[in-house]
Amino acid sequence: MSSHKKIAVFPGSFDPITKGHESIILRSLDLFDEIIIGIGFNSNKHYFFSQDRREHFIEKTFEGQAKISVKRYSGLTVNFCKEVKANYILRGLRTSADFEFERAIAQMNRSLSPEVETVFVVADPSLSHISSTIVREILLYQGDVSKFIPDAVKI
Ligand code: ADP
Repeated sequence: MSSHKKIAVFPGSFDPITKGHESIILRSLDLFDEIIIGIGFNSNKHYFFSQDRREHFIEKTFEGQAKISVKRYSGLTVNFCKEVKANYILRGLRTSADFEFERAIAQMNRSLSPEVETVFVVADPSLSHISSTIVREILLYQGDVSKFIPDAVKI
């Protein structure tokens, strides 16, 4: 174990952050000493919001929360974990499709880096229909997304 402190990385694209992400992070606060929200960068992916805006939305969401920070990274999530001395990866589960997808990634990450444990938190049923993909779709057609994004975020 790299550290006595329980440090978790919550990795994702956050394009943009939603009430679903916010809820998983807030509910996990008691489990960890520190949660680092990792904005992953994948050069094959096209993003709706710039890294700056995605980071800004996350900062606004968790303003004043001393245990929560945000960092950008590229490359493997397990390498980022090593860099920030995190021993946990936190992910949310909405559906069985999420589970199948997440299981493969978690098992792969564990084989790459056995000291990093993936922890899943099951979505609140009132938020499990929310996804960044749907939020982007609504934005594309100038719809109102305020119900789906954190109250502190103004798009
Ligand atoms: P990625 O691009 O890696 O899928 P996302 O930003 O879409 O990243 O999601 C990051 C994490 O948040 C994932 O574990 C995902 O399952 C979880 N998540 C996304 N939306 C919700 C939601 N509405 N409720 C709970 N967890 C969610």
